[in-house]
Amino acid sequence: MEFHYLSGKSKARYNEFAEFLGPAISKGRILPSADNDINYTISLQHQRIIKKGLDVEYILEPSKNASQEILDVFNRSDAHYDNKVSCREYYLNHSVTKDGQTIYKDRHCYNLYETCSDLRVGENPQDLDHSCPNCGAVSRLSELQHGCPHCGTSYMMDDLYPKVTGYYLLDWPDSESMMKNWKRSVVIGMIAMTILMFVCVPIIRAIKNIPLDIGTLILIPVEGAFMGAVIGGLYFPLFWGIGHLIRAIGLSATTSTFDSRRKFERKMKHISPEFSCDFFMGKAVSLIRAAVFSEDEKDLLFYTGPELDPYIKDIIDLNYGGAFSLEKFAEKEGFVDVTLRFFMHVLYLSDGKVSLKKQLFRAGFRRRTDIPINYGFSMTRIECPSCGASFNAILNKHCPHCGREYEMITDDWVMTQLTC
Ligand SMILES: [Zn+2]
Ligand SMILES: [Zn+2]
Repeated sequence: MEFHYLSGKSKARYNEFAEFLGPAISKGRILPSADNDINYTISLQHQRIIKKGLDVEYILEPSKNASQEILDVFNRSDAHYDNKVSCREYYLNHSVTKDGQTIYKDRHCYNLYETCSDLRVGENPQDLDHSCPNCGAVSRLSELQHGCPHCGTSYMMDDLYPKVTGYYLLDWPDSESMMKNWKRSVVIGMIAMTILMFVCVPIIRAIKNIPLDIGTLILIPVEGAFMGAVIGGLYFPLFWGIGHLIRAIGLSATTSTFDSRRKFERKMKHISPEFSCDFFMGKAVSLIRAAVFSEDEKDLLFYTGPELDPYIKDIIDLNYGGAFSLEKFAEKEGFVDVTLRFFMHVLYLSDGKVSLKKQLFRAGFRRRTDIPINYGFSMTRIECPSCGASFNAILNKHCPHCGREYEMITDDWVMTQLTC
């Protein structure tokens, strides 16, 4: 298996995103490396935190044990863009303060997945539509470079591409503490084996009637330490492996990721050969986050389901726990309906207390089967199906040119339910 790593501008964008994601969530700053869709969802999360009267510290710290390189997981080009999904290991340091008192603190290891989109090599970008990072209005790229017709901000091409167009954090085994435990296990093995040999060797010698010489006594700590290191070094990976296997079996009873992933990908590829599960996960987690953090999910362009449980509105952070299962997959009358269950790490604020819950979310998604997957799709830059004008559908669901209400099912996935 060959590994590819990010380089050049995509790498710089990836790192920039990881560095500024925290300040965007906690302080409400704009993330210049991310597109308007991500900035919109993050602003919803920031407003939730403010509304709950909290001060949240959210710092992503690169794991020292992971390779300094960013792994390139998946690449797909569509009509205008090159899209890359890539990941790297991070520690998320969370702390929540209310009225000057720290009420919650934790540190957890995650893999940060980002989708980075760039204009295709050889693409003449001047006629492409783009939503202004400042005001959100849609203009031609050539216009934005000379100053947005709506707010006047002008951009360099490097400001606009490449952009991070999707991201999620995936629960990951903590390699720092694993390494610490392994080293501890080696040291304990060395000490225990040496002591054991100091006790056993004289006894065995006495039984066999062989006198104990000084050479043997000197060799005992050397041999003991060596054997202890081998046993201790093997013991930990073995037991850690068994422990993980047991956990994985336990988890698979509720969430059967491996099998579900294979099944889901196979069924979707039958409809859209360009389907990618990695890319879909980024999209699904991002839609779930937007629905969770929205003040009223009815205002969201992509949500068509019933009212959410008020309990969901107590959530202040939500990340993917690394497992999902496919509950329902139905293709009928030009639509595909999918119900998935996601294992999530969720931070709640209720009764003035913050608590971390690991729970299952059930989410329904619907999509047309007759259109290819558009990797460059953005809710902030859609083309009116009626008159062809481009506009930002997050700012206004109605086309500013012909007045027709835009429905997201025209172009992309919509969410039909969300429960936990
Ligand atoms: Zn503008
Ligand atoms: Zn229109």
